Amino acid sequence: MSRDIKTKGIIIKKVNFRETSIILDVLTPEYGVISLMAKGVRKQKSKNTGLLEILNELDLDLYKNPSSEWYIYRSSQIINAHLFNINLTTSILMQAPVEVIRQIIISIDDSQAIYQLLETYFNYIKSIDKNGIAIFWRFLLKLCRIIGIEFDISNCIVCSQKKQFFAYFPQKHGFICNDCFHPVNNEQVFKINENAADLISKLNHIGNYIDEISIPKPTIKQLNRIFLTHLSEHFHKKIHLKSIELL
Ligand SMILES: [Zn+2]
Repeated sequence: MSRDIKTKGIIIKKVNFRETSIILDVLTPEYGVISLMAKGVRKQKSKNTGLLEILNELDLDLYKNPSSEWYIYRSSQIINAHLFNINLTTSILMQAPVEVIRQIIISIDDSQAIYQLLETYFNYIKSIDKNGIAIFWRFLLKLCRIIGIEFDISNCIVCSQKKQFFAYFPQKHGFICNDCFHPVNNEQVFKINENAADLISKLNHIGNYIDEISIPKPTIKQLNRIFLTHLSEHFHKKIHLKSIELL
């Protein structure tokens, strides 16, 4: 017997299926990321037009056969159309975390926290008009914390002292200071510039600095690379981030 399910959810992926249907991946607070089949919703007279769009947050009425992995769409009501009426930069910054979430495995235990994190992030990113990329990095930092792969952004991973970071050391999953760097490790580390080191040290409270910092291109590259490497090492697969390249 199929089971009725009510949940809210954020659409993180949308693919047309056959003539009139849509397949969606939806992040939910209780069930993690679910695969949702919405049959016939692309018919001309469907009342669902405009509802099932990427990044929309919805109250969903679904059902599911216990023997199937699929959730079947019945109806929905809009809570928030996040991409409606926003500029391109903000739109890219809103799609970036979703691009990451699509590529990682989210355990049901973490889904509530990740859902809240994403909602908070969306609302914040819409409220600022510069340096949004730094808020995205803070999102990634918090995401890493939730899924249990937090990295220490205060202390050197080798000497455990609070010193300015000199490089990121992927094998040790952390940052090293100038004193702990040896040329023998040169091939294994990513050196970071002073601007990047300064930003990393402020990342937990970056909202306080958002109007005064400036983030040059090399810094953007360095921080993106660090976060993507950190996530890729953990999930044993290459995590890509195409959206950010458009910034
Ligand atoms: Zn050190």
